[in-house]
Amino acid sequence: MERQDRIFDDYIPADEPIALYRELSEVEPSQNAILGFANRYGRLQGDSAQRIDVGEVPGAIPPVGYVYGEPLEDWVRVIEHMHEAVALWDMVRDGDHDALAEAIEWREGRVVYLGTARYRRWRDAGPLAILAAMGDPPEEQRIWKEAAESVMRFESDPLNQPYIRTGEFIRPAILRVLAVINSFLYDRNGPVLFWDQRANKVKRQDIPSNLEGFVWLQFAQALQHRTEPRRCQVCNRWFDVSSGSSRTDRLTCSNTCRTQAYRKRQGDAVRLKAEGKTASQIAKELGSDVKTVKGWLTPRKQKEN
Ligand SMILES: [Zn+2]
Repeated sequence: MERQDRIFDDYIPADEPIALYRELSEVEPSQNAILGFANRYGRLQGDSAQRIDVGEVPGAIPPVGYVYGEPLEDWVRVIEHMHEAVALWDMVRDGDHDALAEAIEWREGRVVYLGTARYRRWRDAGPLAILAAMGDPPEEQRIWKEAAESVMRFESDPLNQPYIRTGEFIRPAILRVLAVINSFLYDRNGPVLFWDQRANKVKRQDIPSNLEGFVWLQFAQALQHRTEPRRCQVCNRWFDVSSGSSRTDRLTCSNTCRTQAYRKRQGDAVRLKAEGKTASQIAKELGSDVKTVKGWLTPRKQKEN
């Protein structure tokens, strides 16, 4: 049932460079964790959420017949694929052949995509449960083997490109990441034409149709622009730093967090001074310079209005 006391805040994800695709990939696939993410960032499907019939709710005025919602399994599917793709991409970035060799195999000159351990567990859980319920072990084994092989073929085919050299792992892994992203990106981000009044011409732009489209588009852009993921020192969320930009040394995700980090350092400086430390000792401890620390320790003049 919808809460009567809810408050809506406008939220534009792209206003902060939070790597929302990474945040989503780390959401535990449980009801509570997913609800936490949704309450912070919104529905994946946005306005196209499904109408879910809940019947009449006793005591509610007017009696509620339905709510708008999104099935848990849809969220879990997105999270599991995002986790898989981000994990593979990080193995590629780290050049981690050992980890990649657990997800990718070479058999008779062909790449076979086995999947990351967690993705495999999720992908196989449903079919295995259905087969277990059938209760006929030999038949079960045969059906499972066939189904598993056809999934493996389906997922491996796009990785077997003529330019892939036998025994390599990096490019097949990249191709799998692209296949996962593309399978979600395609119908959730329409290229849209619009009239740019300032430039006085027609522009073509990728527009996500909902939050889900946005996270996949953001991931796609991170790959395209080869951004470096970093965790914010203050709020611990992921943000992307584009390589080659002038702000590659940034440690916080946003101006809000930067200000907070700055205030914390100022507070630490004052506390350390009260403990009897000198400005140069404080500067050393906080990784700052003496002049800055002295500035922090000088009481500020009241602002004149
Ligand atoms: Zn932050």
